Amino acid sequence: MARKLAAGNWKMNGTGDSLMELEALATGDLPQGVEVLICPPAPLISRAAEIAGGIRIGGQDCHAEASGAHTGDTSAMMLKDAGASYVILGHSERRSDHGESDEVVRAKTEAAYAADLIAVVCVGETLEDREAGSTLQVVCMQLAGSLPDSVTADNTVVAYEPVWAIGTGKVPTLEQIAEVHAALRDALTQRYGDAGDNIPLLYGGSVKPGNAADIFATANVDGALVGGASLKSADFGPIIAAL
Ligand code: PGA
Repeated sequence: MARKLAAGNWKMNGTGDSLMELEALATGDLPQGVEVLICPPAPLISRAAEIAGGIRIGGQDCHAEASGAHTGDTSAMMLKDAGASYVILGHSERRSDHGESDEVVRAKTEAAYAADLIAVVCVGETLEDREAGSTLQVVCMQLAGSLPDSVTADNTVVAYEPVWAIGTGKVPTLEQIAEVHAALRDALTQRYGDAGDNIPLLYGGSVKPGNAADIFATANVDGALVGGASLKSADFGPIIAAL
């Protein structure tokens, strides 16, 4: 059984004032047996880590190299040094805004491991892929290309995020989520054996307090990667509680 994880991705939202929302979660009741992760923008990571209590802090991306002439980039080691223990990699917004290929995501994932960060590796189909009936093929290809051989159940989380469901209020049916998660679980088990059974599989894309419980009750869903609804503790708190 994979561990349960409720992860919040603040994306490019928030300034110091927004840390009040993290503080509210950290000082409130957190359920037993559920790991909670907040990934704020990079400039907030060290301040977030100071007040996070039992909540884990993560980055939203890292460079594949440890250091060097890469203006504007942040290395995995720097995230770790700032207090992060996770990093999101291959989010569809990185794949589309920055042209990140599976190969790039895999190199970044290896950099995350080298810095002792847990990688949350994202995959997901576009609306065109879904309408063409190629969802399973697309997500399994992304998974195969984005994950290195050195994956373990401790160093990796996989997030299924249909591109068309992110920030749109549209959510796949529970059957569609179950179908993709089953395919991802099979692919992980085939490649990594027993470890594949224990890698947390998150669903992401318009998760809200009102739909979280049903999504979490779906087979092979071990948690969620939440964007918009992770910005306010009043929304993210009930999502965590539903897990
Ligand atoms: P959303 O974003 O919850 O705002 O749809 C999810 C994500 O991109 O991780």
